[in-house]
Amino acid sequence: MSDPIHGLDELEAALALAAEEAREFLAGVDSDPVQPPGTAQALSGIERDLPEEGEGALAPLRELGELGREAGNRSAGPRFFHFVIGGATPAALGGDWLASALDQNAVARVASPLGTELEWIAVDWLRELFELPRGFGGVLTTGGTMANFVCLAAARDWCGERMGVSFSADGLAGVAQVPVLSSGHIHSSAVKSLGLLGVGRANVQRFAADGTGRLDLDALELALAELDGAPAILVANAGEVNAGDFDPIDAMADLAERHGAWLHVDGAFGLFARVSPRAASLAGGAERAHSVSADGHKWLNVPHDCGFAFLRDPAVLPRTFGEGAAYLPPIEGERPDFGYLGPEGSRRARAFAVWATLRAYGRRGYREMVERHLDLAQHLARRVDREHQLERLADVRLNIVCFRWHPDDAGEDELDDLNRRLGEALIADGRVFAGTTLYDGRVAFRPAIVNWRTREQDVDALVDVLLDLAAGLR
Ligand SMILES: *Cc1c(COP(=O)(O)O)cnc(C)c1O
Repeated sequence: MSDPIHGLDELEAALALAAEEAREFLAGVDSDPVQPPGTAQALSGIERDLPEEGEGALAPLRELGELGREAGNRSAGPRFFHFVIGGATPAALGGDWLASALDQNAVARVASPLGTELEWIAVDWLRELFELPRGFGGVLTTGGTMANFVCLAAARDWCGERMGVSFSADGLAGVAQVPVLSSGHIHSSAVKSLGLLGVGRANVQRFAADGTGRLDLDALELALAELDGAPAILVANAGEVNAGDFDPIDAMADLAERHGAWLHVDGAFGLFARVSPRAASLAGGAERAHSVSADGHKWLNVPHDCGFAFLRDPAVLPRTFGEGAAYLPPIEGERPDFGYLGPEGSRRARAFAVWATLRAYGRRGYREMVERHLDLAQHLARRVDREHQLERLADVRLNIVCFRWHPDDAGEDELDDLNRRLGEALIADGRVFAGTTLYDGRVAFRPAIVNWRTREQDVDALVDVLLDLAAGLR
């Protein structure tokens, strides 16, 4: 095979083969090891040399399917509790396939009227799902990091305006730093975004009342008072990654109002608390923020990659993200093109998957799924509490259970090492995945439940495998 034009008649077979390979992979995703034992061998067998002559479409697709089965991580499945990674609902997966097949460029209406229209609808449906006020708008991004980036860019430029400068136009040279204040819960991706934005990673002030990072509200208020009305960015965290804890967003909104600061809420997964009346109060106050970010590929269960940035006043975004060239459409109207609302130019039609999954399951379907996950987290917490070798370290407020292995005969000084070794053994074993972290200075497990396929037996499998491996370590 040479020029792909000669492969035109392979298209149908290629699509059928890709669907068949996907079907086979997903058929085992509930019960396969999360990381298959033959992974390293499969990876080492991949041909490294750029082919001079191609083989046509079917051979590489067959090989990809095989590699997927042999070395693909089953993070799409129900036993992956590491990080916070969702799977893909059937509707979302189908929508995402069609985004590739139709290959719409959602940069501008003229490039894709369909991609653009569905993104307006998807962003508005998400706004409603999270009960953010009418008028909030925004843009789909590649994930929570870029959603934080978009929101914090708008915050930076809002501060610049109050300082009499345009950071976007003139850069940051010679201008006083923008103060950024948060609790100890601020996510590394927000810090990274502030670095990218020239505000500076080291310029984040964390007001933590204890080793878990919980907000010291009095210290925050004092620091804001000292700024004496100078522009500042407050970052509130809805869903922190170690224990799923929340900053007091309402109280932070009060402070932001009193001291004239921009309030950003990072709700990568925690914003989904607002989908259930049982948990909504945890993220209460997000509706008062200037900006709110969340993830699609976590609890919404759309494929990678997808996030959302919401702004109280989305009209500010083109000031930061607009661009001009003679061949590009102008920035105009109530609804500027999405290429002017975020960092990307050419953009995947991420709205297809979001729109399809929200249409398929509706507000009620998402509420039921979130509540099922809340129940599973409480089930896991009870299971941990019953096992005398396990010690729970935090209240379970949402979907993360923070605990550690604590054998009766082990001293406190041995526990970090034991848990680190158990964490490594769990990943090497591959049947179930969960990661370790440092919580209040102690090495701990922090399984997060966000996958639509996860059931009680999967959560139980995590505890069973951990105890099994722990027995082998001592
Ligand atoms: C996951 C996460 C992010 C970053 O999201 P990505 O999709 O990985 O870029 C930001 N904030 C919080 C609280 C998160 O959990």
